[in-house]
Amino acid sequence: MSTVELREVSKVFPDGTVAVDRVDLEVGDGEFMVLLGPSGCGKSTILRMIAGLEDASSGSVLLDGAAAEELTPKERGVAMVFQDFALYPHMSVNDNIGFPLKVSGVAEERRGDQIREVAAALGIGDVLGRRPGQLSGGQRQRVAMGRAIVRRPKLFLMDEPLSNLDSQLRAELRAEISGLVRELGVTCVYVTHDQAEALTMADRVAILRKGVLQDVGTPTEVYGKPATLYVAAFLGSPRMNLLEAQVSVALDRHVALRFGEQEVHIPWDDLRARHVAHYHGERIVVGVRPEALTPVAANTPGDVLRGRIRHLEHHGHESLAFLDIGATAVVVDEMAGPAATSGPPQGGWRGLVRKLSGNGTRGAVTE
Ligand code: ATP
Repeated sequence: MSTVELREVSKVFPDGTVAVDRVDLEVGDGEFMVLLGPSGCGKSTILRMIAGLEDASSGSVLLDGAAAEELTPKERGVAMVFQDFALYPHMSVNDNIGFPLKVSGVAEERRGDQIREVAAALGIGDVLGRRPGQLSGGQRQRVAMGRAIVRRPKLFLMDEPLSNLDSQLRAELRAEISGLVRELGVTCVYVTHDQAEALTMADRVAILRKGVLQDVGTPTEVYGKPATLYVAAFLGSPRMNLLEAQVSVALDRHVALRFGEQEVHIPWDDLRARHVAHYHGERIVVGVRPEALTPVAANTPGDVLRGRIRHLEHHGHESLAFLDIGATAVVVDEMAGPAATSGPPQGGWRGLVRKLSGNGTRGAVTE
């Protein structure tokens, strides 16, 4: 059993940098939690506070429900895996993996069995005699994982463990690491700035910005229903389209959304109309994923949003059209034909709606 709880945790460094700002987060037993955010948003600092390598300035960290402040890093039962793997270059793979067992006093005969078992699980059983310098990047990463696993920790903390590897290897190891961690049933807090990594590996993702927690949820939740405009704009490649609209309700008939010069109508019997109706008279931001817009032929009559195509990009598995709709740049996934417009509410109109004049993160599109 291993849970992690952060209660209003802040970290202010002596130079006044607020690295973490009143973060509340719970990681359940056996959960794979990914901390995601751009460089400098406080991810590593949170990890280091959980590990006991850094003290919180205020708030508390709880491990298994008990205050962690009193525990030394060693007593916390955590294993950390870092970006640079931090292997001992002069030691063999065998000795690197076995090192944590050696320092905790496990007898040499018993160490051998445990090392071989872990190495076999990671597919590096045949390189136990080599030194780190004689291994590929992927093998080095597996050795670092092996060293973390061998002590059967209660909690894994991983700080960008794949960021020094090439993209193909990263994709392979993503599945391998999350599979292995789940198999072991160990709680894991994993830091990355790579959203593909976060969305594919996590049970839940916590998204940070400038030390402030923006959203926590399953990959489907944070992608489909982002809590803030920041998260909406941050997740997804290409990004979610954010269109400003003026809302007006024609009672019992439709809700009109005015996007610059253009207006589209959502019939009253459409659930989405009810969703935006209470913003009557206000300006909102409508978030629509590129894949949720349906391109239609240029001469399609009725309620379509018309845009001028700036350019097309073909990526093999998808084609993207970059349009200008009034002053707003919009991306549409997959072109129906050479002359097309992006269909608005008609198609799958998913995403979020936010009042533009709100305060805090909900009011600002991006900075
Ligand atoms: P990255 O992805 O680049 O590693 P991160 O999200 O992990 O970034 P942190 O390393 O946690 O971010 O840093 C958060 C903020 O705290 C940054 O602004 C960083 O410059 C600052 N910071 C980190 N360590 C210190 C320190 N010892 N003294 C002062 N400021 C620090």
